[in-house]
Amino acid sequence: MSYIEPAPIKDKENPLDSMMSRFDEAARLLGISDEIYNILKTPTKQVIVGLPITMDSGKIEVFQGYRVIHSNILGPSKGGIRYDPGVTLNEVQALAAWMTWKCAVVDIPYGGAKGGITCNPREMSAGELERLTRAYTLSMLDVFGPDRDIPAPDMGTGPREMAWLMDEYSKSLGMTVNSVVTGKPLVLGGSLGRVEATGRGVMVCALAGMEKLRINPYKATCAVQGFGNVGSHAARLLHERGVNILAISDMSGAYYNEKGIDIDAAAAYVEQNNRSLEGFTGAEKIPAGDLLTLKVDILVPAAKEDVITEENMHKIEARMIVEGANGPTAAVADAILNNKGILAVPDILANAGGVSVSYFEWVQNRLGYKWTQERIHRRSDRIMREAFEKVYNTSVEYQIPMRIAAYIVAIDKVAKTYTFRGGY
Ligand code: GLU
Repeated sequence: MSYIEPAPIKDKENPLDSMMSRFDEAARLLGISDEIYNILKTPTKQVIVGLPITMDSGKIEVFQGYRVIHSNILGPSKGGIRYDPGVTLNEVQALAAWMTWKCAVVDIPYGGAKGGITCNPREMSAGELERLTRAYTLSMLDVFGPDRDIPAPDMGTGPREMAWLMDEYSKSLGMTVNSVVTGKPLVLGGSLGRVEATGRGVMVCALAGMEKLRINPYKATCAVQGFGNVGSHAARLLHERGVNILAISDMSGAYYNEKGIDIDAAAAYVEQNNRSLEGFTGAEKIPAGDLLTLKVDILVPAAKEDVITEENMHKIEARMIVEGANGPTAAVADAILNNKGILAVPDILANAGGVSVSYFEWVQNRLGYKWTQERIHRRSDRIMREAFEKVYNTSVEYQIPMRIAAYIVAIDKVAKTYTFRGGY
């Protein structure tokens, strides 16, 4: 890989800057026109709502909800809904754009969107969350739709919230419309394989990357940050393929075992311990930040944005990073990692397994049909593998890191589509 001038160091990066700096670099390399550049950097639609909710105490609290449609040029926009105290318009804008690039990288016929509510789901009761989800859905009735904008789970939401959303939308229209949302429980038209889809895509990318770097999975070591929906499945699936997982972490801290962690035991422990690794005895507790700088072959950041930063970028020792989370690497760290020869498989490729199986869920709902798990795995593995090769080959062709190559693949597709469709 060629040498890249490190970006100037600045304070904490916000997600939108982090997305835009990569977008700018790829747009420049591709040589897209100023007109197309301006179109692609501007979200198509942004909706902000105030949601007054009666809490269990009887008090009314007002929550801020967002939905940003970054682009619907490739098809209906697609993207999850995040419930987290840190949700801001800036973050939702970045996540929405990432969805556009992600869907384009894996070549599925969707634009990109993201939603969020600034709230702390860990401190809310099921009843409060249900009222909030239903109120949010009602406020987005003219935004959502199977041919318009299709939400899905993200941080802080899951099949339960998607079921409420599907129900509220369906009641408002007077008919059952399961294709309005993906990531639903199986009985409501959810897809087999959706729950582990993102983690499975991470595994496929990690194996593809190991092949390029000539790392034998049976001799490889790995650290996984985050043991939620993405990290736990990625760890388990890699473990099943021979990779030794030396460290895992969640909100309770990081856990290290130099001989390797029994991932099934960790998953079983979390299951009966209120979804937390706290007290897990199959590994010793280490300072949370140390997980990222362990000397392992593969590092999987699968928790949140901006964890590989100017503070720890020089200390990263992994040979390969596979980004399960959205935006875990600050843009300022890209050049350093590249100059250290680390292969970074970027978020918009590595975690696209989730939206790929969301696409299959939507297709099945529209067909009124159900595919087998085997078919879902086979097709999503193929999508991920082909996208990996396309991005890898682009990175070789342009002599650039895989991250910028992924943006090039995506921007090229969206820009060409726009040029054919035309504007006003
Ligand atoms: N929230 C997930 C993501 O960031 C899934 C989106 C979807 O399935 O639409 O990719």
